[in-house]
Amino acid sequence: MSSNSGIQIPSRLPLLCTHDGVLLPGSTMRISVDTARNMQLVKSRLLKGTSLKSTIIGVIPNTRDPEHDSDELPSLHSIGTAGLAVQVVGSNWPKPHYTLLITGLCRFRVTQLLRERPFPVAEVEQLDKLEQYTEGDQADGELGELSLRFHQAALQLVGMLDMSVPVVAKLRRLLDSLPRETLPDVLASMIRTSNKEKLQVLDAVDLEERFKKALPLLTRQIEGLKLLQKTRKRRPDDDKRVLAIRKGGVFPGRQFSLDEEAEDEDGDDTAMLEKKVKAAAMPEAALRVCLKELKRLKKMPQSMPEYALTRNYLEMMVELPWSKSTTDCLDIPAARVLLDNDHYAMEKLKRRVLEYLAVRQLKSTLKGPILCFVGPPGVGKTSVGRSIARTLGREFHRIALGGVCDQSDIRGHRRTYVGSMPGRIINGLKTAGVNNPVFLLDEVDKLGKSLQGDPAAALLEVLDPEQNHSFTDHYLNVPFDLSQVLFIATANTTATIPPALLDRMEVLQVPGYTQEEKVEIAHRHLIPHQLEQHGLTPQQLQIPQDTIKDIISKYTREAGVRSLERKIGAICRAVAVKVAEGHKVSRAESPTEQHAGKTGTSSSHTSLLFTAGITPAPPVSERLTLPGVAIGLAWTPMGGEIMFVEASRMEGEGQLTLTGQLGDVMKESAHLAISWLRSNAKTYLLTTGSADPLEGTDIHLHFPAGAVTKDGPSAGVTIVTCLASLLSGRLVRSDVAMTGEITLRGLVLPVGGIKDKVLAAHRANLKRVIVPKRNEKDLEEIPAHVRADLDFVFASTLDEVLKAAFDGGFPTAVSHPQVLNSKH
Ligand code: ADP
Repeated sequence: MSSNSGIQIPSRLPLLCTHDGVLLPGSTMRISVDTARNMQLVKSRLLKGTSLKSTIIGVIPNTRDPEHDSDELPSLHSIGTAGLAVQVVGSNWPKPHYTLLITGLCRFRVTQLLRERPFPVAEVEQLDKLEQYTEGDQADGELGELSLRFHQAALQLVGMLDMSVPVVAKLRRLLDSLPRETLPDVLASMIRTSNKEKLQVLDAVDLEERFKKALPLLTRQIEGLKLLQKTRKRRPDDDKRVLAIRKGGVFPGRQFSLDEEAEDEDGDDTAMLEKKVKAAAMPEAALRVCLKELKRLKKMPQSMPEYALTRNYLEMMVELPWSKSTTDCLDIPAARVLLDNDHYAMEKLKRRVLEYLAVRQLKSTLKGPILCFVGPPGVGKTSVGRSIARTLGREFHRIALGGVCDQSDIRGHRRTYVGSMPGRIINGLKTAGVNNPVFLLDEVDKLGKSLQGDPAAALLEVLDPEQNHSFTDHYLNVPFDLSQVLFIATANTTATIPPALLDRMEVLQVPGYTQEEKVEIAHRHLIPHQLEQHGLTPQQLQIPQDTIKDIISKYTREAGVRSLERKIGAICRAVAVKVAEGHKVSRAESPTEQHAGKTGTSSSHTSLLFTAGITPAPPVSERLTLPGVAIGLAWTPMGGEIMFVEASRMEGEGQLTLTGQLGDVMKESAHLAISWLRSNAKTYLLTTGSADPLEGTDIHLHFPAGAVTKDGPSAGVTIVTCLASLLSGRLVRSDVAMTGEITLRGLVLPVGGIKDKVLAAHRANLKRVIVPKRNEKDLEEIPAHVRADLDFVFASTLDEVLKAAFDGGFPTAVSHPQVLNSKH
């Protein structure tokens, strides 16, 4: 301040009244100006003035302190600081205002207010004797001691700050060069003080008093700083302690996720990632790639799109279970109990699964076959897979492959694409969280193929035990060991599974259930499960055996139990409404009593089914009231089905029309059948006048349930029977179903899917089944009680078929038609 010693402030000063902040001599402050008087002052004084004098203004802190209000100038604080306006910045936004940068020079007292408008101007008296400062160093007595203490405290404060910060170093130099008398003002404006405290320092005109007022503020600041530093040092330990409590006490098993949480709070992104990368226990190759990517990430600005890509990649890498696995807890007797408890029937499948598990127990590094369950929907393939995972104590993850037609679905996209991601295998591992889960590859028979490559080929690598220890996903671009994963596949048919894939799997057929098995499954599993799902108790709803049987035979026609389960669900819903209403109406007469069907009479359960909105399929016999209809048996991926073949004739030129979504083989069968009938028309008395029964006649053959494409030769015998019925005008027995391929010479050849077909006939309540003679051996697979219910006719010629299909046989002209003589 010694440089200021020559400056005398003008005796008349324009006054700037501030609302916030107190300007002290020796400090610089930014003041926002927006009131009318202050704006006027800036405009007409600061902006128009040209001399140095015109830039000096009086800054009066606008205080509401009542004891100062009573002074000669009641509305204004009597003491202010004369300041030098160093900078004026104007702005029109959000409203017109100026921002002033003002450096405080010295105190003044307002002696007389000269005018108030447009801005106040006052006669002032300069209070700080600037010359006094130069002699300050020699001050002694109480003042000298005070100033010494103050200086030391100031040095201590600065010493506590970080000297590497440039402004702190500058401050230290300033402390040494400034006269001590200016220190109270300078430091009071620098340290954390309230406006009131600053005002007290401003009002302390006496130097000794000023030191006394400022010293406690300074010591308070020092103490505060000390406390802050102490707590900062302690904090890491505290964190650890808190974490330890959380880890050990609350969630003992889930330590790693807590660590992650703690790290999330950590601001530094890449450092956190690095920590995670190191903790992920990944193999050498993967670690090297990760560290390289980390290095790149550190150099990238966050705004770069690639930053997010790389980050996502690294996050994926650290989340993969490189070395996390569950330990198998395999106990064969327990596994047997569990499988039996979860699933009724399917003995063959359960036996094979147990064998498989037993071998695994004996040889844990088994590069075993991949089991593939093949069967109609709803026979429990998926749920057996789930049970296997449970018996092994492994995580279970299902990968639906139906409709997947892109290689990258399995193997991932290369990281060059925007939005690229890993394939389903790697994603599945991430979800499972361990590297040895049970993966159920659902619907492998429905894999598609497209321009984007063949997903089946990618699956080959996944499933091949020789290759899958280093499965390389395109996204990860580093090998991942899949050899610990247990793969199980499911399919409805093996026909559409690519041969190479099929070759790697062991196919286990899961056939459909018989009616009795379904009843048992319903009682043991489906009903309890549905009751639980709908919040009902067994007391509220009891479905009698007869009702279940009726639902199975009349209301569902399927190989599995899925639609049976749905129907039971529908009943549960209907009853749930009744129960809910019943609670409101009366408790005594619970509607469930009526609907529980405890009597088991057909009227009660029919009404129950009616309430549930379940309607029966029309009975089979109703459709066989006219000549020209026969029932065939077909095999579809959904299991066996009965299939009606209808024929009609009309005047025409001997043309054959076929409808009902037929494949080529089916069409050929139809032509074969017609040719055989024509050539044997005489034998079977089918001629009406002329030798050719089809002369002047068109034939239309229809295979209803048209949306499903039907192919396969096994409808040959049915077509012959149907046409024979049409041409002879005789009705086919309504309880007969048949299957078999025919030859031109009238032989019946064996066909596949006998078990499913027979079960379908049994489901449809048919009594007689005509099967090719050479399929006789296949009947062994069929449960004995089903066999007992049905009357099997084994036919090797069409003659035998016709005889069995019509009541009282089929009349012939000659006792032995020519085909019977031929041997096959
Ligand atoms: P899929 O995978 O063969 O299409 P799901 O495994 O999804 O069939 O089975 C459908 C439902 O039928 C499941 O609720 C399952 O529990 C039940 N289920 C099927 N077969 C049985 C069985 N043998 N014992 C008990 N429940 C069964």
